[in-house]
Amino acid sequence: MTDILDQITPDDATEAPKAPETRHWRREDGEAHTLWLDCAETTTNVISEEVLRELDTLLDDAAHARPEVLVIRSAKQGGFAAGADIDGFANLRGEEAVTLLQQGHAVLDKLAALPFPTVAVVHGATLGGGFELALACDHRIGIDGVKLGFPEINLGLHPGLGGTFRLTRLIDPVEAMQLMLNGRSAHDRKAKKLGILDALVPERHVVAAIRAAAGGSLEHGNGGFRASALRTRAARSLAATRMRSESEKKAPRAHYPAPFALIDLWEDHGGDATEMQQAEIASFAELLDSTTTQNLIRVFYLRQRLKAAGKGKDGIAHVHVIGAGAMGSEIAAWSAMQGKRVTIEDTELEPLGDTIRRAADICNAKHLNGIETRDALDRLIPDPDRLGRAHADLVIEAVPEKSDLKEKIYAELTDAMKPGAILATNTSSLRLSDLVDATPDPARFAGLHFFNPVSRMPLVEVVSHDMAAQDTLDRLAAFTTGIDRLPARVADYPGFLINRILAPYLMEAMVMLNEGHTRESLDRAALSFGMPMGPLTLADQVGLDICLEVARSLRDGLDVPVAETPDWLRDKVNEGHTGRKAGKGLYDYNSEDPPRTPEDDADQAVIDRLILPMCNAAVECLRKGVAPEADTVDAAMIFGTGWPPFRGGPLHYARIRRDIPDTLHRLEDRHGPRFAPDPGWADLG
Ligand code: NAD
Repeated sequence: MTDILDQITPDDATEAPKAPETRHWRREDGEAHTLWLDCAETTTNVISEEVLRELDTLLDDAAHARPEVLVIRSAKQGGFAAGADIDGFANLRGEEAVTLLQQGHAVLDKLAALPFPTVAVVHGATLGGGFELALACDHRIGIDGVKLGFPEINLGLHPGLGGTFRLTRLIDPVEAMQLMLNGRSAHDRKAKKLGILDALVPERHVVAAIRAAAGGSLEHGNGGFRASALRTRAARSLAATRMRSESEKKAPRAHYPAPFALIDLWEDHGGDATEMQQAEIASFAELLDSTTTQNLIRVFYLRQRLKAAGKGKDGIAHVHVIGAGAMGSEIAAWSAMQGKRVTIEDTELEPLGDTIRRAADICNAKHLNGIETRDALDRLIPDPDRLGRAHADLVIEAVPEKSDLKEKIYAELTDAMKPGAILATNTSSLRLSDLVDATPDPARFAGLHFFNPVSRMPLVEVVSHDMAAQDTLDRLAAFTTGIDRLPARVADYPGFLINRILAPYLMEAMVMLNEGHTRESLDRAALSFGMPMGPLTLADQVGLDICLEVARSLRDGLDVPVAETPDWLRDKVNEGHTGRKAGKGLYDYNSEDPPRTPEDDADQAVIDRLILPMCNAAVECLRKGVAPEADTVDAAMIFGTGWPPFRGGPLHYARIRRDIPDTLHRLEDRHGPRFAPDPGWADLG
């Protein structure tokens, strides 16, 4: 066994020959039978129908050879496997889905039943179907840095290849359910503590760990005390009731059925693995048919499309950020975490110190280990003397929203930036066409509009203008993807894409507040549609001063009517009650919490009045070419604002609902011309 195990790591597994007639597996024979998963024509393993079919044959061979131990590993640097192959099942329905699932289960059952020890050695991302493959082995050895999880819930599904019944038997079932319900991953030490991993070792100790597994000296989980306590249905029902109420708080059953299907599955069948396996297959196939899941799968592809729009090399190693406030500090910290060398300047010293503290907090929140955090902080350099201006490949300006201040800084940069470097502004409401004349080189100037907080908001608008060079925009989109954010390429338009579409939602709510609706009823109506935050809570979050500024820029720049801003809003801002950051805005954060639960029986007329203006603005943006295609509009709204993913985006929703132009006409008759349907509806299809 030693000769084989000692010699191979993921780095040189590609040297190993492919097993006969397999495209995705490499086999190493010997005392230890090692199967290296190495999916063809991709850098990331996914568990496809073909991968499982090939594995089936390899398991037959192994059963015949009867090795001392069977090891399953990944030959890919990045991880064990990123999940099931979504392309393979996205379009399957009904019986077809059930048949495919049954075939997959049969392969993993065969693996689980082998009469000799089986070991999955997992590193990096071990998710979904990859995790399920590992769960079908007797032992799991994790390499430092591994993360295991079931992200299926984000697609409106639950695990479908045996994860539900294998994980709930391996570890504490309540912990197992939490992992599946929240879709988050368990990182190395956590996974070991939970009992998912039998051993957690550095790569150099893998051989010893496999030997221990083969020799029977590696203990593995059996669910612990809680597993036996929850064998009875009555006990599970108690826990299930709690889980349902937690899930309902996060998202109602009507919008996201998958968590509830998973809880039902466990409550009804958690005492019997065979029953639960059959029920898992049936439940997965049923969810696959639901509109929510189909829309969430669509969102998965939308994310890929945004990423694809940011392919290529950015040529950006050094980023210099000007302004270390709310945005600049996060942009700098995030870019450093993602491997860029970053300098950051501010006129004040305090924000520079805050930036380093903020960066350490983000590293912590994102589970970076000590060495990764140290490296990220080493790359982030406070630069009060502005030395970075001359060396950076990209300068990002994030000073307060005043055009004269921004223009003054651009003028200073004219002789300071190195040739070929790009200047980007993070402005959210100024037009690039108004700023461009002050920039050192209009061709190398564009908008890079991050959202707050950068570490949690995946979208970045890459904003063009008439004089921007294509190469500049391509490099900025590639930079955005390179720092693990999603670029939406948009045009210079009042509010760009996101704020243009989102602003009417906030502004209409203010008008309705003026008419006598309560804050809570408006916010809760929007939550019942599926918005992550009601419009008034969101206005407080964004800052009422910024809302006023965006409203002004829309009123000045658009050729369509915009809702009036109530006088009391301006008064509030003048009094310093600018929202959450000031402790007081539309809500008083010292004494009240904005509503978080949807209205059970929300008035559709209220919902329409808040939501349909966004759809109308989305149609306008498409017609005006603010985004290149409808999918970009939908993707940007979902990833930039949390627009309900299960509805597939504002334009997708508009296409499905069909009656929106008529409803807008009715709203126009009642409330004024701001509701007039955009001429672009005729072309929406
Ligand atoms: P902020 O007020 O929090 O921070 C601005 C920072 O710039 C301050 O630390 C200030 O000291 C510094 N500064 C001022 N003059 C400077 C100068 N001459 N040189 C260097 N530093 C200087 O502002 P913010 O909220 O981070 O906004 C910055 C930009 O980002 C604005 O254009 C804003 O529209 C945009 N933006 C803000 C948000 C948001 O939610 N806050 C979201 C997206 C975009």
